Parts: sequence; structure tokens; C-alpha cells
Amino acid sequence: MSLVIVGSLAFDTIQTPLERREKIVGGSGTYCSLAASFFTPPKIVGVVGEDFPKDVLALFKRKKIDIRGLEIRRGKTFHWEGHYGHDPNQRETIRTELNVFGDFRPNLPGPYRAADIIFLANIDPGLHDDILSQMGRPALVAMDTIKLWITTKPEAVWRALGKVDILFVNDEEIRLLTGETNLMKAAKKILASGPGLLVAKKGEHGACVFGRDFVFGVLGRVSENVVDPTGAGDSFAGGFLGYLDKMGKVTRPNLRRAAVYGSVLASFTIEDFGIERLKRLRPGEIEERFLEFRRLVSF
Ligand code: AMP
Repeated sequence: MSLVIVGSLAFDTIQTPLERREKIVGGSGTYCSLAASFFTPPKIVGVVGEDFPKDVLALFKRKKIDIRGLEIRRGKTFHWEGHYGHDPNQRETIRTELNVFGDFRPNLPGPYRAADIIFLANIDPGLHDDILSQMGRPALVAMDTIKLWITTKPEAVWRALGKVDILFVNDEEIRLLTGETNLMKAAKKILASGPGLLVAKKGEHGACVFGRDFVFGVLGRVSENVVDPTGAGDSFAGGFLGYLDKMGKVTRPNLRRAAVYGSVLASFTIEDFGIERLKRLRPGEIEERFLEFRRLVSF
């Protein structure tokens, strides 16, 4: 199988209650493909400016991430600034400088077009139709979205939902999108609009996965070591979809394991700023933590 990830590659400025980091590498596509690379060699689609560090491109190559779909344009890389308070589940966007990302029109290289899974990570929902029209017949289309698109382009988000199989969103976004405070009612509304699966991320508490006739939960890791929550959602999606791509089949047990791997990858990302923890993560650590998650819920 193969997995295409369309998303942002960014410089992030992060302020936590304890520390500030200026212009460190981030972006939804970056986190997602690094997390997925532990299971499958993903293909990334995105755009960066000439200022994007060459050593990160080299890291992608070492991780077997296909970067033929990555455009390097004259100009500056997308820059986002976010501030966290003492609750890591709450963050405020301070700045969004689109730069080269502003007029990005994804163009998928030939070998990408036959991929089995495509993830539309946190990009303008108005781009979805164009991207999907470049694809053959992917077995799975997944998307993520954020408050920005739900508030500025709600019709485009609902239209996009009609064409996807899996939606990844957090609690707040689900309520905003559906106008429902009850998660079950909100999930039903979303499932009725298209996707067969809704992954409702609940920050440090884990996630709930809703299907048309089932629901299950996965815990977040109970940890004292939360340094920077940025990228947790994208790492969850990367771990989840990377594992499904590796397994090649969407079965109920595979979905459950995919959700646990998603939660495991997210739990590592937040242990350091930016992509630092993912950079030094070893496959053995993932398996160890997978077992730890199992022990947490077994009785
Ligand atoms: P997450 O913490 O997983 O929800 O995602 C964080 C990442 O999303 C950061 O690394 C940002 O660079 C990226 N991001 C923030 N705003 C946008 C946006 N408007 N479009 C695309 N990516 C964004």
C-alpha cells in the first residue's frame, strides 16, 4: 500500500508557560509524515521557501519519506505562532504568515496518483476537489481540519466531508462544526454527512473513534513530561494512517491498534519542542509504549 500526505511544512514559534522557541520546524505535513514513517514510507506533498533547513530535507530522505511532491519556492516558508497556557489542550493562534503556502496549488507527481491512502492534513478545504481529481481511486481518503476553516469556510468543510472516509478533529472543532455539545449527537451528524469513521481527538485524554455501528476509545498517556503539545494531532493521524497502510486492510482490530499507535506517536511528540523527539525516536520505544498502553486498559 502507499500513503500520500498533503499538508503544511512550517516554521513554528511556540510559547509555553515555561519557554519560548522561535521559528522551529513544524507543520501538519511534517509531523504527520515523520510519525507515519515508522510504519510505511509516506509520500509528502507541500511547499517550503528557500529558507527551509536542508538538514530537515535530508532527515526526510533518511526516514524514506518521498519528497518528490515537495516544492521549494523562492520566498519564505509558512510561519505560525501559537501560545499555550497551563492547560495543554488550549492554545491560541497569535500569528499565521502564509508566505509561499498562500497560493499553494498542490500538484501530485505521477507515482503519487495511484496511492491507496491520501491524507488531506489541515489545508484549505477548497483545495480538496482539485487534489482528489488528480488521484486514481484511493481506498481511503482522510482529512483533518481546524478552527480557522470551520469558522471561515464552513460550507467548504461540509462539502469536503462528503468525499472523505475518515475525519480527524478535536472536541472543540467537532462542537464548532456541528453546533452540538453532546459528542455522540455531533458524531452522528458528521457520520451522516459522509465519513464512515470519525476520530475525535481529546488532547491529553486520548481519542474516541466513532463508526456507524460502533465506538471505541483510546487513552492518552498519563505523563508529567508535556513540553510542547504542538503536532500531537498530526502525529496521531500519522501513526494511525501509517499503521493502516502497513497492514493493508481496514478491519476492526486494525483500527483499534491504529488508534493506539496514533496515541503512542502523539505521546512522544509532546515530550520535546517541535520534531526533536520524533527525530530521536526508535522503533523499539514505540513497541514498548504500545504494550504500556495495553496494560493501562487491560484487566
Ligand atoms: P497540531 O498541533 O497537530 O494541531 O498541528 C500543529 C501544526 O499545524 C503546527 O506545526 C502548524 O505549523 C500547523 N498549522 C497551524 N495553522 C495552520 C494552517 N492555517 N494551515 C496549515 N497548517 C497550520
